[in-house]
Amino acid sequence: GNESRLQAILNITNRQKTVVQKPEPLDKIWATDVFNLAKMEEALNKSAFKAVKQTVQTGAPLDPAVADVVAAAMKNWALSKGVKFFSHIFYPMTNITAEKHDGFIVTNAEGNAITEFSGSLLIKGEPDGSSFPNGSLRMTNAARGYTAWDPTSPAFIMHTENGSTLMIPSVFMSWTGEALDKKIPLLRSISAMDKAANKVLALMGETEIAPLNSSCGAEQEYFLVDSNFALARPDLLLTGRTLFGAPPAKGQQFDDHYFGAIPERVQVFMQDFEDQLYRLGIPAKTHHNEVAPGQFEIAPYFESANIAADHQQLMMTLMKATAKKHGFMCLLHEKPFAGVNGSGKHVNWSVGNATQGNLLDPGKTPHDNLNFLLFCGAVIRGVHKYGPLLRAVIASASNDHRLGANEAPPAILSVYLGDQLEKVFQDIKDGNIATSKKGDEMDLGLSQILKFERDPGDRNRTSPFAFTGNRFEFRAVGSSQSVSGPLVAMNTMMADSLDWIADKLKVELDNGKDQTTAVLAVLKELMEQHSNVVFGGDGYSEEWHKAAVEERGLKNLPTSADALPYLRDESIRELFSRTGVFTPVELESRFEVYAEQYILSIEVEAKLVIEMAKTLIYPSASQYLAELSVTHTSMADMGIEMNNAVVSSIAKETNAMLTTVAELEAAVKKHDFESIEAHMNFCANDIRSLMDKVRSHVDTLEGELADDLWPLPKYREMLFIK
Ligand code: ADP
Ligand code: MG
Repeated sequence: GNESRLQAILNITNRQKTVVQKPEPLDKIWATDVFNLAKMEEALNKSAFKAVKQTVQTGAPLDPAVADVVAAAMKNWALSKGVKFFSHIFYPMTNITAEKHDGFIVTNAEGNAITEFSGSLLIKGEPDGSSFPNGSLRMTNAARGYTAWDPTSPAFIMHTENGSTLMIPSVFMSWTGEALDKKIPLLRSISAMDKAANKVLALMGETEIAPLNSSCGAEQEYFLVDSNFALARPDLLLTGRTLFGAPPAKGQQFDDHYFGAIPERVQVFMQDFEDQLYRLGIPAKTHHNEVAPGQFEIAPYFESANIAADHQQLMMTLMKATAKKHGFMCLLHEKPFAGVNGSGKHVNWSVGNATQGNLLDPGKTPHDNLNFLLFCGAVIRGVHKYGPLLRAVIASASNDHRLGANEAPPAILSVYLGDQLEKVFQDIKDGNIATSKKGDEMDLGLSQILKFERDPGDRNRTSPFAFTGNRFEFRAVGSSQSVSGPLVAMNTMMADSLDWIADKLKVELDNGKDQTTAVLAVLKELMEQHSNVVFGGDGYSEEWHKAAVEERGLKNLPTSADALPYLRDESIRELFSRTGVFTPVELESRFEVYAEQYILSIEVEAKLVIEMAKTLIYPSASQYLAELSVTHTSMADMGIEMNNAVVSSIAKETNAMLTTVAELEAAVKKHDFESIEAHMNFCANDIRSLMDKVRSHVDTLEGELADDLWPLPKYREMLFIK
């Protein structure tokens, strides 16, 4: 029956309102829980501070003596805030955040409690990594890994109901030095890009070149569902999405949620959440309703890639915890509700440094414009050459539901430049802008483009990879994913393209060409090879899906089973080896981990489909059939013939459901696959389509069974009751 549904609605109606805290002034809370440079300056002597600042800004190794001084200062700061534990925090190959807590406390010979935290404890931790999926690295190395402090990302204090902990951002590696995490490759990809960019900028006559980094600002979409409903849905609990559920009479077609005011209860949640972010020095900047009812978005101001990635992980953790406190379940799944808009994460990405600024910003002088064109060209080449890699780094069982559906960017990687910039590149390709008078720099007027493209009204929202005036926006990233994978792929393709550009540019300049002519010649060659990836039309349209593949030779990789094997492709292996971002063994282990996760998550869903169909849906359907048959028989006894249409339909759907469930049961038992690729394909095609078939029977039953017998909270309840 529907007792749990009714109880849920009752609980929500009678819930105690969360008390609205008066918001704290920003300057009082900003970064109070972060051991940043400002706090270090206060706490350390001059020479120690100078050394640690150098390390923070360049990642250079820290003298162990200085590490002891920093550790002591960090400990005292944390103890003064009531903290008793510390933990290295790291990012294994899955999308999760991992921690291992240790006390500061030790006892001395006299039995007194003293606190201890040495430089070596700060620098190195030894978690037992055997329980993290490490792919083939598990075979080639001892299962244990260790964590090492990343001084470029500041330590902070995490408050939970169970106490407060000093968190030390760390990398995670094997004893033989292989990366077991998502942070090491990110740091490597930044330095690969820096190296290649340096060559290009030096050839462009720049004399002072500060270290290059990439910036990232990620817009995060999510759903909030009242926990009373979520807890009555085994599927939300175990898989983060609804495996069954008929569309409600009213969905998102009115757009009234998108433009509407944020519900009060959600505002209270947001304020609480954002105050916590501010304490952690995370610059939460915008929040608003999203397209679907119950869907929202938050975007922090952009930061350097490594910090942004750590902050993004922290945000996801905090979002879920804070939602719970407010009686919500926060859904980060890419497609929690069928037929309703899914959630993505738009990763805004740019490349720059302190001396040349943002190199994806057209800039004001003709010379700036040339740098911009080269870096922008590098992106175009990168997306064209490594499109399948970009698709592979956003591959997951959950994101597959979104890519290619007509609400999210397609599973074909193309680049949107905007009309004006596209024309500039087209003209370069056609040789319409090809020469310049010697010594006379040509003004391409690109600062005008900048103004124009920044207007959000003009944006093409159907493109997976769009230029938005001074950055690119990778829109196909999934809402639950770490931003590190996409950042690694973008930085590395950039390194590769800039290397290529540097080689070509050198040849042109050595041949005596002036700078403008040389740049245009290189870009002409680049566009001749790669302009096929530039597309300004409707990415959702059927024509594009056909033309992209047939005329332009781009790859359409609708499922993770299609995309992940590209991590094993020779060209990708070479790319990562050449740039030093992944060794072949490290790359192979990523393929294995992601493939395993893909298979596992589909199997978990399939098993739950079977269980829910048999133990929740079938009993309800039979109960209703029993009630109806008693009624119909009694009525017949009285000489009144009842209409049997509903009874027959329910009987037919229930039988069909059970037949499909049996097929699905047989399918999940199959385990003799010749390769992991074959297993993935089986999940993507056979298992998924059987799950869809069961679902369609269940969803039909939902529309026919008496409401008071339906065991699961319905879409209208989950989406509209707050
Ligand atoms: P929109 O919804 O119009 O795309 P938002 O303001 O919601 O814009 O989000 C844009 C994101 O892009 C923010 O996180 C913002 O800080 C980030 N961003 C802005 N400029 C840059 C840049 N140069 N590099 C990287 N990210 C940027
Ligand atoms: Mg955006």
